[in-house]
Amino acid sequence: RFITLEGGEGAGKSTQAARLAAALDARGIEVLLTREPGGTPGAEAVRGLLVEGAADRWVPLAETLLHMAARAEHVTRRVLPALAAGSWVICDRFVDSTIAYQGVVQGLGVAAVRSLHRAAFGSLMPDLTLVIDVDPAVGLGRAQARSGDAGARYERMGQAFHTRLRAAFLDLARAEPARMVVIDGGQAPDAVAADLLAAIDGRGHG
Ligand code: C5P
Repeated sequence: RFITLEGGEGAGKSTQAARLAAALDARGIEVLLTREPGGTPGAEAVRGLLVEGAADRWVPLAETLLHMAARAEHVTRRVLPALAAGSWVICDRFVDSTIAYQGVVQGLGVAAVRSLHRAAFGSLMPDLTLVIDVDPAVGLGRAQARSGDAGARYERMGQAFHTRLRAAFLDLARAEPARMVVIDGGQAPDAVAADLLAAIDGRGHG
């Protein structure tokens, strides 16, 4: 099973991805826990180009193609082999982030991102996508409180950016209810973790 976690800055995706992987592991399920952009040395190098610098460092097409270059490394070297070996893959961000950030908010267009994805990755899509939804004010507060590169460029964007991003993820989820489930990320971490597991079990992915 290929399961992705999505959401804006400070939604708690990486914390929850780790908890989810641990919970599945405790059930005896083989799990690859990974993230995008990143997940292989080459893709992590591309991540450095994406998270550092000014918010307008890249034009939207270049930014999209960098994400897809990192994804090509990650999908080919890690995701597909893990799935082929029967593992589950829990991935912190995937194509829905590219659609929401570059397609919608940066304005490249949803259709353009989808067609680039199809050209590069064919029909590869997650079996289940869990969108962790939080109020942008809460998410930005959390994101700015943590250290590391995560979100560095986008955390400097204003609230309007993050409000549009949230709406983009919610629109995507509304359009694809069979694949995407929205989880209330404003709850305590234990409650979010429980909701994520319930969503997996409820879809027959357990
Ligand atoms: O998930 P994480 O917050 O670590 O992602 C790193 C940065 O890359 C974040 O600022 C995120 O918003 C950004 N990003 C992006 N477009 C994507 C995926 C991630 O701008 N398609």
